[in-house]
Amino acid sequence: MDKKQNNKICNGYESNYMFLSDEDFQKHLEECESCRKEHERMQKVSNLLKEAKPYIKAKRKKNQILKAACALALLCFTSLSVPIMLNADKIYDDVIAMNSPTIEEMGLPVDEYGFLLVE
Ligand SMILES: [Zn+2]
Repeated sequence: MDKKQNNKICNGYESNYMFLSDEDFQKHLEECESCRKEHERMQKVSNLLKEAKPYIKAKRKKNQILKAACALALLCFTSLSVPIMLNADKIYDDVIAMNSPTIEEMGLPVDEYGFLLVE
């Protein structure tokens, strides 16, 4: 069984990787230099990915904590803002009541309703 001829018929690393069985692929790697180089490159990439995995996982965990914190903040905000919204009319009146004299006090021209007069 001499498969050295295969050197001449190489469909490229990707297609060999997809269509050859593991055994044939390993054999082809021994015979084909360009595929062997490509395979080494792929191994390096996959090793890099393996090394990076714990970091990716750690980051994902951090994101979950962040999400929980956001949900908690949103819950706090909602429970705080509901009473504010219920009192919104009163607060609006207070703001008007506070602002109206202020404009006059500042010596700005006001109309008969106490609003700032713009000419
Ligand atoms: Zn090849």
